[in-house]
Amino acid sequence: MSASVVAERAVVVGAGLAGLRGAEALRRAGFTGSLTLVGAEAHRPYDRPPLSKHVLTGAVAADATTLPSFLPLEAEWRLGTAVTGLDRRNGRVRLADGSSLAFDRLLIATGTRARAWPNPHEGRLAGVHSIRSREDATALRTALAAGPRRVLVIGGGFIGCEMASACRTLGIPVTLVEPSTAPLARVLGTHMGDVIGALHTARGVEMRCGTEVEWLEDDGRGRVVRAHLSGGDRIEADLVVVALGAVRNTEWLAGSGLSADAGGLDCDADGYALDTEGRVDARVAAAGDVARFPHPLYDGRRVALEHWSHAVAQAEHAGRLLADRKACSHYAAVPTFWSTQHGINIKSVGLTEGADGLVIAQGSPKEGRFLAVYGREGRCIAALSVDCARWLPAYAAQVAARAPFPPIHGAIDQPEHRPVLPPGFS
Ligand SMILES: Cc1cc2nc3c(=O)[nH]c(=O)nc-3n(C[C@H](O)[C@H](O)[C@H](O)COP(=O)(O)OP(=O)(O)OC[C@H]3O[C@@H](n4cnc5c(N)ncnc54)[C@H](O)[C@@H]3O)c2cc1C
Repeated sequence: MSASVVAERAVVVGAGLAGLRGAEALRRAGFTGSLTLVGAEAHRPYDRPPLSKHVLTGAVAADATTLPSFLPLEAEWRLGTAVTGLDRRNGRVRLADGSSLAFDRLLIATGTRARAWPNPHEGRLAGVHSIRSREDATALRTALAAGPRRVLVIGGGFIGCEMASACRTLGIPVTLVEPSTAPLARVLGTHMGDVIGALHTARGVEMRCGTEVEWLEDDGRGRVVRAHLSGGDRIEADLVVVALGAVRNTEWLAGSGLSADAGGLDCDADGYALDTEGRVDARVAAAGDVARFPHPLYDGRRVALEHWSHAVAQAEHAGRLLADRKACSHYAAVPTFWSTQHGINIKSVGLTEGADGLVIAQGSPKEGRFLAVYGREGRCIAALSVDCARWLPAYAAQVAARAPFPPIHGAIDQPEHRPVLPPGFS
């Protein structure tokens, strides 16, 4: 270890999953300088996936989600204090409490926040919720435990679907409204979206697809009572969950000269931050939900992922990168994601965007247990398993190898006919 490395100062902005794993990777790679993690939330890093699953049903307490540390970090924690600005010229970040921190290496891991309901007045009504933080999940758990007459979930993405699932587990009537013709259509296409939608319908979720919530009405005392849909229909609901996706936390980078917007902070293929001229700042790396980077598996298309395992892998990469600038090559991990809905395990590898074909490779949607593979221009680009994760690693290898599509012939449990279906992306 050189003397200059020992004397250096590393700052991690964002004390979530990526911030924690990135800080650990820095240490593991031999960084012995000072290390400070700054987090806007008052908590040590915690795990978000249980917040829309087991915390809502009461199986896990929200404060039991603290992430384990895998090594002593010997770090200073500045929690409950947001970073408000980045001065790259002087190598400092400014904090909301008026103080500032000098850095030689900076890891940006500020993640995302829940997209707010577009009408702020309606969004503030009692009974209107979203899920991103521990506090959000605690508030929702309390509201669910009080026994609402009907829950309305706005948005049929993964969080919205998990919310609907939690309601049914608790025996609470729930309606899910989604503007596309099927839930999860944006990520999985309408073909698979219809399959997932049918699973929800069979378990008592009232699915209202192809329509939008236009506005939320209150009872005159500030509590939501119903929603008005675009076609004129109304839904009586005393609990509304807004699940409209996420916005990246990049506002604090305004004026820093880095290339960042609501879609993420731009990075090069290694993970270094790019400035607005496209130049690398080799003191600054980014990881997790906030980072937008060119993925080599997808022809260098810039992607920003919101996947737990990606946050871990990219943070570990970024920590190594910041510890030893020569030690790293491009970040190329295959994206993976999982979700649990109605006790059904849904997993995916790769990215479906741009898919032009879909095959059911094993099992059958009718049986509720299958594995589907997405292809593009004759190559495997993604796979989805529904209660059938056992074979997924084999397809992950095919996705990583950009293997020919349709994939693997002669697998067990394979349907006799495997037509290539339109995945249903518009
Ligand atoms: C309810 C929920 C369920 C999920 N379920 C799954 C799942 O089943 N499977 C899956 O693969 N993924 C899931 N995810 C996604 C996964 O949790 C995220 O991909 C992961 O949390 C990303 O980690 P991160 O550290 O990049 O961001 P975050 O977890 O968002 O952490 C970023 C941290 O930075 C802080 N911060 C923001 N701005 C500032 C600032 N200016 N200064 C200081 N600190 C700041 C934030 O407060 C936050 O604590 C889920 C997410 C949510 C919200």
